[in-house]
Amino acid sequence: MFDKILIANRGEIALRVLRACKEMGIKTVAVHSQIDRDLKHVRLADESVCIGPNPSPKSYLNVPAIIAAMEITDSQAVHPGYGFLAENADFAERVQKSGFTFIGPDPDVIRMMGDKVEAIKAMKKAGVPTVPGSDGPLPEDEEECHAIAKRIGYPIIIKAAAGGGGRGMRVVHTEAALISSIRVTQGEAKAAFGDGTVYMEKFLQNPRHVEVQILSDGQGSAIHLGDRDCSLQRRHQKVLEEAPAPGIPQEVREATYAACVKACIDIKYKGAGTFEFLYEDGRFYFIEMNTRIQVEHPVSEMVTGIDLIKEQIRVCSGLPLSIKQSDVIIRGHSFECRINAEDPKTFMPCPGLVKGFHAPGGLGVRVDSHLYNGYSVPPNYDSMIAKIITYGDTREIALNRMRNALDETIVDGIRTNIPLQQMLVRDEAFRKGGVNIHYLEKKLAE
Ligand code: ADP
Repeated sequence: MFDKILIANRGEIALRVLRACKEMGIKTVAVHSQIDRDLKHVRLADESVCIGPNPSPKSYLNVPAIIAAMEITDSQAVHPGYGFLAENADFAERVQKSGFTFIGPDPDVIRMMGDKVEAIKAMKKAGVPTVPGSDGPLPEDEEECHAIAKRIGYPIIIKAAAGGGGRGMRVVHTEAALISSIRVTQGEAKAAFGDGTVYMEKFLQNPRHVEVQILSDGQGSAIHLGDRDCSLQRRHQKVLEEAPAPGIPQEVREATYAACVKACIDIKYKGAGTFEFLYEDGRFYFIEMNTRIQVEHPVSEMVTGIDLIKEQIRVCSGLPLSIKQSDVIIRGHSFECRINAEDPKTFMPCPGLVKGFHAPGGLGVRVDSHLYNGYSVPPNYDSMIAKIITYGDTREIALNRMRNALDETIVDGIRTNIPLQQMLVRDEAFRKGGVNIHYLEKKLAE
């Protein structure tokens, strides 16, 4: 096991990783930008290093500064959290070449999953159900593109192979719009990701977003930790998540889990990972794999009792998984509300001084947050300031606990999306369960 881990992130996830390290008796190094010197985890870490000025390209994305910080602090491994460098294969490779361990899968696996065309190919091979599509990059020939679209059936969606963050996608409803849509998406993909490769998929009209959490040791063992429903999204950004996904037939989910586990073993996946699916009419369709820990991982921890970060660190240190599939028992229900420093109506970020913070509490309430009284939310980074997570024996108990927890929370001095979350946990359709990915935006439009 490692003696010392450098945490290459900030905010709540840096604190989350620090807590896991402390439990495991591992020393921690925090790296931070100038404005982040008073972050909670920086104060709690054994050592800290300022790696640059506030803009993330100069600090949290500054690979040479992070490697240098590992060298001067004699760290053995780096935990990338999510965002920033977490899915950057070149970073993972630089870490390895410098003689350190990247807490995540091997660089070639990150690279393969970062190319959605390659990822889909690998998943299909392992028997993971995918969306009917072009099965590879679109050809130059216009007639061939028309033929593919006709075979799939309109509406279709053109997607960038290198896309991410909900960008580089375009829905096409008619044959007349096909070729121009392909060209525009290619141009956008080239500009945004440096790679103009695009592919085509059937556009599912009313799917839910359901994802499967896995842990894999890269030594032939992999397990799943059930699923999460993250259908409540705005502009492809998740807002409220839950585990397990409500109302999915057991045999359908079991078959999907088995395929995910097989895929992990096939690609020698190491660490924690998520298979993202669209779920429609009783069927799962793979869309992409995230090769990192995710924001919403706590809901899976709550229903399984397994610490995903500790297991991730364990397998990346070369140890086998400490748990077998038969040890994973999904019990009860969990919700997570992402609390953002933003206007609840306009969604404009609202950074600034937190004059008062009162966190909710009680049985089945967990708060993952770096906030404290007098903390100032900087304007430079993501606006998420807290995650409120609740657990209950039933979905209804967990949801009522979330309603109460949101009502108890006070963040004074800045605006937050708590009013939006309060509205959602009282929403009749959401309370029933199983709303699709368009539900939140439709409701907001009303
Ligand atoms: P990104 O990597 O940019 O997040 P994804 O492939 O995960 O891209 O897709 C993001 C979102 O776009 C999905 O959650 C879904 O809302 C929508 N989407 C993607 N593919 C399809 C599809 N084939 N049919 C319908 N919606 C889709």
